[in-house]
Amino acid sequence: MHDGLPNEVSRWQHVEATAREMFRRYAFNEVRLPVLEPTALFVRSVGEATDIVSKEMYHFVDQGDEHVCLRPEGTAGAVRAYLQAGLTRSGGQRWFYIGPMFRRERPQKGRLRQFQQIGAECFGRADCQTDAEVLAMSWQLVQALGLQQLRLEINSLGCPACRPAYRQHLLNYLAQRRHTLCDTCITRIDSNPMRVLDCKEADCQQQLQDAPEMVNHLCQACDEHFNGVQQGLQTLDIPFVVNPRIVRGLDYYNRTAFEIITDQLGAQGTVLAGGRYDGLVESLGGPATPAIGFAAGLERLALLLPEMQAKSPDVCVIASGDAAVLQASMRHADALRQQGIATIHAGGGGMKRQFKIANREAVAYCLILGTDELTAEQVQLKDMNTGEQWALPLSEAIKRIHGN
Ligand code: ATP
Ligand code: MG
Repeated sequence: MHDGLPNEVSRWQHVEATAREMFRRYAFNEVRLPVLEPTALFVRSVGEATDIVSKEMYHFVDQGDEHVCLRPEGTAGAVRAYLQAGLTRSGGQRWFYIGPMFRRERPQKGRLRQFQQIGAECFGRADCQTDAEVLAMSWQLVQALGLQQLRLEINSLGCPACRPAYRQHLLNYLAQRRHTLCDTCITRIDSNPMRVLDCKEADCQQQLQDAPEMVNHLCQACDEHFNGVQQGLQTLDIPFVVNPRIVRGLDYYNRTAFEIITDQLGAQGTVLAGGRYDGLVESLGGPATPAIGFAAGLERLALLLPEMQAKSPDVCVIASGDAAVLQASMRHADALRQQGIATIHAGGGGMKRQFKIANREAVAYCLILGTDELTAEQVQLKDMNTGEQWALPLSEAIKRIHGN
């Protein structure tokens, strides 16, 4: 598991602030949900045959013999909370969350065991305009971060009306090639055959070149919906490509599935992924409720941003003199903080040592207090960028630091 230290957290905060602003524009509201949930919730929603549930969950039995686990994703918990709060008649909910998720996978760049997701869930809307808007919001988020060389890939996974026939078609096709596929694919043929399509093995991809694709087997309603999503994206000038091989690892998706992908992170190139999950609320015990959402990996997004430094303090207070000077300087530091100025106190003593601290912390100003200044009810304010220095009352110094 990974420790977020100040410089890296600065990048995370930048991503979070950008996301919050985008969510505000689309009128999504923040929810903060538990990281510990009943294990059964994920088995029922994400699906037993998925990597997440079969291999990656941190689950345990607690002191009350309850089977619980650290949440591996956010959607299941959001649906649970939506149902538990009795919001199914609220006429729609637009939620977002930012928080840690846990998956016990092999750690590598862009793949951590505790990572953070920024996610959104929209309950109660089935129309293709909603899909287009959620996709637009995702795209505008990565654009607002200034990320380059990304592409939005979309697909339709059909619905319970058209998927079973396609699935059978695919199974027939796969049965003929079973002996040529990798071990993972062979297990997936039995558990989750659509996932065979996104096998990362080049040999398998070669074998599967002419595999039947869901987009060519959609029922009329799904086909119209998928066309509507594409038209919506065109209307909003959002560039996208249809990738019929996007299947998503989770069981609960239907119709629109999408990913935003970069080539800069190798195999860990999916920075954001999501889709429609119209059956999930019902399968967790609620009334039939259409829904669509996505989640972005915060660390992966941050990896694509330029280095950032944790913010430096504005001012270092330097004291040179007896105990009275030191005490007055502490009160000055306090006054600066009360005025909203980020301030450190260098601790008094030798001037050389104190200036060393100021330089190391890269402060914008030093506020220097000596015996003479104390008597004159003034301070010395030094601009550390220009080297300029002024003798002036504390209140004037504060105005100057504030830039007026
Ligand atoms: P992958 O194909 O990379 O395993 P996934 O299908 O498991 O992704 P999702 O469950 O869709 O991923 O999660 C959404 C996003 O969360 C991913 O696109 C990625 O950016 C991020 N993510 C998923 N797993 C991890 C992880 N272990 N470490 C860091 N980020 C992750
Ligand atoms: Mg994964």
